[in-house]
Amino acid sequence: MTEPMTYCSTRGQAPDLAFADALLTGLATDGGLYCPRSIPELPEQIPGDYADAANAIMWPFVAGSIEPEMFAAIVAESYRFFRHPEVCPVVALGDNHFLLDLTQGPTLAFKDVALQLVGRLLDHELERRGDRVTVLGATSGDTGSAAIEALQGRQNIDVVILHPRGRVSDVQRKQMTTVDAPNVLNVAVEGTFDDCQDLVKAAFGDSELRQRHGLAAVNSINWARVMAQIVYYVTAARKVRPDGGPVSFCVPTGNFGNALAGWYAKRMGLAVEQLVVASNRNDVLTRFFETGSLTSRSVEPSLSPSMDIQVSSNFERLLWESSGRDGLAVAALLDGFRSSGNAEVPAAWTASIRAEFEGGRLDDDGTLAEMAGLHDHLGLLVDPHTAVGTKVARDLRRSADVPMITLATAHPAKFPDALQQATGVRPPLPAFLSELFDRPEHLIQAENSLDAIRSILESR
Ligand SMILES: *Cc1c(COP(=O)(O)O)cnc(C)c1O
Repeated sequence: MTEPMTYCSTRGQAPDLAFADALLTGLATDGGLYCPRSIPELPEQIPGDYADAANAIMWPFVAGSIEPEMFAAIVAESYRFFRHPEVCPVVALGDNHFLLDLTQGPTLAFKDVALQLVGRLLDHELERRGDRVTVLGATSGDTGSAAIEALQGRQNIDVVILHPRGRVSDVQRKQMTTVDAPNVLNVAVEGTFDDCQDLVKAAFGDSELRQRHGLAAVNSINWARVMAQIVYYVTAARKVRPDGGPVSFCVPTGNFGNALAGWYAKRMGLAVEQLVVASNRNDVLTRFFETGSLTSRSVEPSLSPSMDIQVSSNFERLLWESSGRDGLAVAALLDGFRSSGNAEVPAAWTASIRAEFEGGRLDDDGTLAEMAGLHDHLGLLVDPHTAVGTKVARDLRRSADVPMITLATAHPAKFPDALQQATGVRPPLPAFLSELFDRPEHLIQAENSLDAIRSILESR
């Protein structure tokens, strides 16, 4: 038997929880994020089938909260509908550089890999408890559609998704707003993604509101999403290095959830040489990795909107680990960062983080050039987020002998305007989405204020 896993908050003042409670809670009551108290080792044998591998790798994190057979069944169900039989296939680019294709799910973005599982786990747990929640989330584009797709029509879950009005692509918006399910509400907020994320945090911070509506989160502060993303680092490494030798990863990054999963995979024993974090001009993390100082700037729109983020919420988990799990110190640091936009991260924490991560950036011109180059040389169409990754990967890789795996986070058809601009080719949506633009949209608009969100929740 595996020991039950417990989860504790990064700010040190919330009760420890079991996996199922952390799944339902999202943000901890002290404002922190839940993290596993112990980090298990990878299983000795990694099964070749993706769902079997996922089950084996994730099991220690959920132990104590769900029956093993039930967990295995939910995992299998989550990945059955991916368009590729390998779920997350690997594509060779030449020069020992690979793409890990995470776009085979129903909304064409890597977030499906986690959310298809999280939606089902949530539904299972709520049914078991005879309970009901309202999932409140903020999206810079892809989370929203992936969450709505994973949760639409579920009996015990309402879904309210905030997106920054006019700052998500047409395809992204339509993937969210054309879902016609009574439990789904789309809200276009006058503001940026960080504003939307702040509104969600403020709603969760209002304990009365949170209780009354049974608020739950599926944005990347939810541990279960990080957990599900650990799996493909392991399966991809096994594909390019069956001998278990080291590989490197480059991760197009916004909220840092995806990159953090790579860090956990390494902690669990995966041989990882370089973990490269790629950002667009919104480069708070890259500047931190380069200089050691954490300085926020205002968000600037770019061709890769899902990375237009200046406050990467999951970075808190890494800070907490690098502090030696000093929750009070993390809380003090982040309170200061929030109020002043600056934080002096203690040198010892910075050193341990910089030993594990490197950051690189690419502006919009560079992104277009990279998309054009991949199209010219390989006949390959990649979306702008992935292009940031492939270029930064080549810029920062230290050894051509170590396979470099860049995570492909969205399908090119989600960003047809950028593709057209860069390559002259407008990639068609896959057949199953071809009538997306003919369907009616369902959404409401709201001001950037907690009161506006409160009254929307009241009216549900
Ligand atoms: C969400 C998203 C990202 C950023 O992922 P994080 O886990 O927030 O760092 C990158 N690319 C695409 C296409 C995304 O949808």
